[in-house]
Amino acid sequence: MRHDRLLIALVAGIAAGVLAGAWLGKDAVMFAWLGKLFLTMLKMLIVPLVVASVITGVAGLGDPRRFGRTGLFTLGYYLTTTFIAVSIGLLMANLIAPGEGAAIAGEAHPKPPHVGLTDIILSLVHPNIVAAAAEMKLLPLITFSIAFGLALALLGARGEPAIAFMEAVHEATMKIVHWIMWFAPVGVFALVAARLGKAGGAGAFWAQLAALGKYALAVLLGLALHAVMLSLILRIFGGRNPREYLRTIGAALATAFSTASSSATLPLTMELVEEAGVDARARRFVLPLGATVNMDGTALYEAVAALFIAQAYGMDLSFTQQVLVLLTATLAAIGAAGIPEAGLVTMVIVLSAVGLPTEGIGLILAIDWFLDRCRTTINVYGDAVGAAVVARRLARHPTPS
Ligand code: ASP
Repeated sequence: MRHDRLLIALVAGIAAGVLAGAWLGKDAVMFAWLGKLFLTMLKMLIVPLVVASVITGVAGLGDPRRFGRTGLFTLGYYLTTTFIAVSIGLLMANLIAPGEGAAIAGEAHPKPPHVGLTDIILSLVHPNIVAAAAEMKLLPLITFSIAFGLALALLGARGEPAIAFMEAVHEATMKIVHWIMWFAPVGVFALVAARLGKAGGAGAFWAQLAALGKYALAVLLGLALHAVMLSLILRIFGGRNPREYLRTIGAALATAFSTASSSATLPLTMELVEEAGVDARARRFVLPLGATVNMDGTALYEAVAALFIAQAYGMDLSFTQQVLVLLTATLAAIGAAGIPEAGLVTMVIVLSAVGLPTEGIGLILAIDWFLDRCRTTINVYGDAVGAAVVARRLARHPTPS
């Protein structure tokens, strides 16, 4: 299906899902299985896609020095944009002060597991690559695939058959992505309808949103502002027209909104960024890595949420503490997996760093499912912009100096 028609079909699917969820209320949960079917089909492709795309992407760069430079540039892009996102989050939370006067009684929240910097570093590797694939732990798979791609490139002619094999795996998997795209409009309809139904329909949703209205506003305004920043980055450093790019990858953003998962959206992101004409060597490793570590929307939300909780508990965070939020929210976003509501779990890093009670997470729970969808959309946009920026750099520096 062409990307513009797909985008229209997905937007119509989401709109129909909103209507069905609003009208039917809890009964809309009957569509949940269709959403699960779509999500499961997408997830089924993640492991072969990530392995084949990272190996061929890295091997395509040919030279380890070139990979090193491109890799560093990519990490620089991820970090810079994440920092910008957190700064916007801090700005919004300071300007809007969503937590001032908020009632402290929230939903009880079980104490989430502690995640620290060393845990994040350790999550890059796994003793058994097959088990990592079975558990869908993408970071160790990516680490292995980068090493494997580099090794194959260094083998020269002897590595070529394996690279050609992986190339065929990649192409075949992308063909399956095409087939699944035909089901995507039904899938997004079902996901949205069932989730809104689970929340209790339109009335209950508005009540939840109104109860945390200022907080939701701070997050949503922040995300909108960051989308503008990303579009500027795309124009200046990616050399592309943001409107055209958004039209091409729009269906991936709609899928991100419906699934609340960057990882599940990855097959579509890869397909549409390819349609946008982004160099394969850039998109094939920037996108899988981005889906797991580059989360601008999550970083922004972590900052707003931490300040909201502080304000609700009547704690004034000093400038130094806000700098600490900046650093830890970046870490929390890197540590969050590309799955629904992962950001809630890694929020503990931020709260513990500035001495806030982790129970504070209970305050923002009610509306998190909705904000999760919005931040995931920005996470995916950030990855797609990153692929375009890295591709431009590759075009400008064709050979290592
Ligand atoms: N759901 C988000 C994603 O997949 C992560 C999060 O913020 O919870 O990108």
